[in-house]
Amino acid sequence: MRTLISNGTVVTADGSYAADILVDGEKIAGIGAGLAQMANATADETIDATGKYVIPGGIDVHTHMQLPFGGTFAKDTFETGTRAAAFGGTTTIVDFAVQSKGKSLREGLDAWHAKAEGNAVTDYGFHMIMSDVNDDTLREMDQLVSEGVPDFKLFTAYPGVFFSDDGAIFRAMQQTAKNGGLIMMHAENGLAIDVIAADTFNAGTTDPIGHGLARYSVLEGEATNRVIRLAQAAKVPVYIVHLSAREALDAVRMARDEGLPAFAETCPQYLFLSLDDLGNGFEGAKFVCSPPLRTQDHQPELWKGLQKDDLQVVSTDHCPFDFHGQKELGKGDFRKIPNGLPGVEDRLDLLHDGGVVGGKITKERWVEIASTAPAKLFGMYPQKGAIAVGSDADIVIYDPNRKHTISAKTHHMDVDYSCYEGRAVQGGSDLVMSRGSVVVRDGKFTGMKGAGKFLKRSTADFARMA
Ligand SMILES: [Zn+2]
Repeated sequence: MRTLISNGTVVTADGSYAADILVDGEKIAGIGAGLAQMANATADETIDATGKYVIPGGIDVHTHMQLPFGGTFAKDTFETGTRAAAFGGTTTIVDFAVQSKGKSLREGLDAWHAKAEGNAVTDYGFHMIMSDVNDDTLREMDQLVSEGVPDFKLFTAYPGVFFSDDGAIFRAMQQTAKNGGLIMMHAENGLAIDVIAADTFNAGTTDPIGHGLARYSVLEGEATNRVIRLAQAAKVPVYIVHLSAREALDAVRMARDEGLPAFAETCPQYLFLSLDDLGNGFEGAKFVCSPPLRTQDHQPELWKGLQKDDLQVVSTDHCPFDFHGQKELGKGDFRKIPNGLPGVEDRLDLLHDGGVVGGKITKERWVEIASTAPAKLFGMYPQKGAIAVGSDADIVIYDPNRKHTISAKTHHMDVDYSCYEGRAVQGGSDLVMSRGSVVVRDGKFTGMKGAGKFLKRSTADFARMA
């Protein structure tokens, strides 16, 4: 199967230009002006992209399909989650496999392979959440790196569940110094936060707003600085997940100004939503995630971080729980609300609308933070994240002018609400291709359950050189 995409504007992290693209099988086989005239005769299909952007498929390196949390499970499966992602122009996810306490990394990884294989409609990779750091799991890390799972997430939050102390974090970092992997950190001081959350609850605040009030931004800043300094001592790069607060960004910026390989992502919810959304009685449960939504004054700082490359990636932390039946587990105690928001489908459009149309970032930077930078940092480049000859034909034909309204009535995520209900956005994916196959066309799914393949990813070389 050969497909020609003609007359589009190719937008990459490095620049934009008018060109046709020839897709042969699963790969990009040719890029050039006037290719249409030369190759037309041999293409099975020609897609006209006049007036549209042609971009590498989005890469979301932070999703939680079917994550067990707080006595329930995140609702999207690998099938529904990757399909929703594809509708939103994201063709690759990297999900977090979970090591349960007392079990091996292997058991956790195998469980996630079983969830994804035969179900995902687009390609996927895994990071590994480590709940125990000990001699056995440290040894297992090396094996996982060699299997294409080179990143390990640890937490300074959630005592008694995912929490690791500084010694455990440091040992894991020492191991990635040897095996070439990357430590990803959820950086909030969970021990202190739990004290404040209990105080808040005992003082009578039981609604979701308590979640936002208790998780002080300074405690994200403190933990971010601490793990960066641990990584400095271990002489390894470190990646901060879902950075939400000015204080945390300050810690990352300071480290980067010193030349340290510290990296960070933020998420659309921290750019577009705020503490105010948590305030509407129990409705606020829809917006409970950790770190929490911050006061609005943090938002311009995060945009500045994206502009100046102190933040390199925007991912979603997609972790959807229904409002009815799941978020309701926390009625009367905000500490029992399952943490997480849906978002995998909306990322590209929100960033295009709020970022590119909003005049905060260029369209090239948009492609970089949503696709190219995550591909580089997570060992997928240039197979993914690039419009280049030889790269996987994960391609989105994006209409930068089409307007639509985000709503749970029309989204494809398997969750009963949207955090962006009623928000009008400019920009949308017209056609989405995964390894040369069209998976979404004109609002209809044309892909196949199980067509997505596990991505064996390389070590974190970009993080070590940058
Ligand atoms: Zn997460």
